[in-house]
Amino acid sequence: MKTIGLIGGMSWESTIPYYRKINEVVKQELGGLHSEKIVLLSVDFHEIERLQHQGDWHAAGALLAKAASTLEKAGVDFLVLCTNTMHRVAHEIEAAVSIPLLHIADPTAHAIKQAGYKTVGLLGTRFTMEQAFYRSRLIEQHCLQVIVPEPLEIDLVHRVIYEELCLGIVSSESRSAYLNIIDHLAIRGAEAVILGCTEISMLISQEDSTLTLFDTTAVHAVSAARRALS
Ligand code: GLU
Repeated sequence: MKTIGLIGGMSWESTIPYYRKINEVVKQELGGLHSEKIVLLSVDFHEIERLQHQGDWHAAGALLAKAASTLEKAGVDFLVLCTNTMHRVAHEIEAAVSIPLLHIADPTAHAIKQAGYKTVGLLGTRFTMEQAFYRSRLIEQHCLQVIVPEPLEIDLVHRVIYEELCLGIVSSESRSAYLNIIDHLAIRGAEAVILGCTEISMLISQEDSTLTLFDTTAVHAVSAARRALS
């Protein structure tokens, strides 16, 4: 079994399900009292969020590169960054270490293609929906078509993530708003939707939607567990 290095805390609400899911897969595969070898480095999300909204990706990248290097020194075999947004600085993290980073968009794209979908809607933070780092990986490396919400919808999705979900607040009003946005993505051609923010599964689950939802938290965690066992 390989040892996983989790870079978490972004937000801590969504790091907990990673720990649970990884261990559930290992229990299912190995049985008995087996559990995954994990080193978790959890950052202060207050610092990260400030740097994001100041647009200081360089400082945020340096902070996470240092976290990655600490985990490498602790002896982990590969890294899992428990957030979609901070894959914005995946290159900085990769440059700081000699162990691999399991990029969240890759297992997500594989799951989408395996299910036979080509055009997907993307929900996430404004950074994930608007900037190129995430969409271009899906489009260029995985040949998917990606549809993002309209500008006012992007504002709402982003606000709910930072002002509610990352604080552990789950409201039925926001759930309805998200489901309306998913319906609109379907009208615009989305065959399925990526929950491209690790907190969104706190708000909506597959039973709420007629479109297939790809929960990046679950997909990423399962992929990490399988890699650890391979
Ligand atoms: N966890 C979220 C994500 O998957 C948002 C928090 C962050 O900005 O890292 O993008």
